[in-house]
Amino acid sequence: MEWPARFYELRRGEGCPMCEQGRPDETPYGARIFAGDLADAYLQRADIQRGYSVVVWRGRHVAEPTELEPEEAAAYWLEVLRVGRALERHLEPVKLNYDVLGNSLPHLHTHIIPRYADDPKPGWPFPFPEDDPPPIDDVAFRADVDALRALLA
Ligand SMILES: [Zn+2]
Repeated sequence: MEWPARFYELRRGEGCPMCEQGRPDETPYGARIFAGDLADAYLQRADIQRGYSVVVWRGRHVAEPTELEPEEAAAYWLEVLRVGRALERHLEPVKLNYDVLGNSLPHLHTHIIPRYADDPKPGWPFPFPEDDPPPIDDVAFRADVDALRALLA
């Protein structure tokens, strides 16, 4: 097994979908709940875990947080934490996980995954499914989007 050639292109920012998408209110994967100075947060539509959100760095293309200047890094992580606090307030999880992976799309983003009392794997990293399941019920999804937007306004 090797990293595909495409990964190295994406890592350099060539054809990076997160750079090319701009700052939309909706993506194929989620709805924006927060628009910060340097980051956008999207509540994920796939029925993986209630409240699962992705915070996307919206500056120039970087693959690793180590590529940020100190002020950029401070501002990015403070915006990530702001989203985390809203998820804590709205959903009261047992634990929040912050995953900085980027193994399939190497543009800096942070997965925030609430872990609940009835978690699929307590004590371990969240077991993401290989393929996205169908979307969350739209009425429930929109209610969470509205509540989180209000907390993050
Ligand atoms: Zn990018």
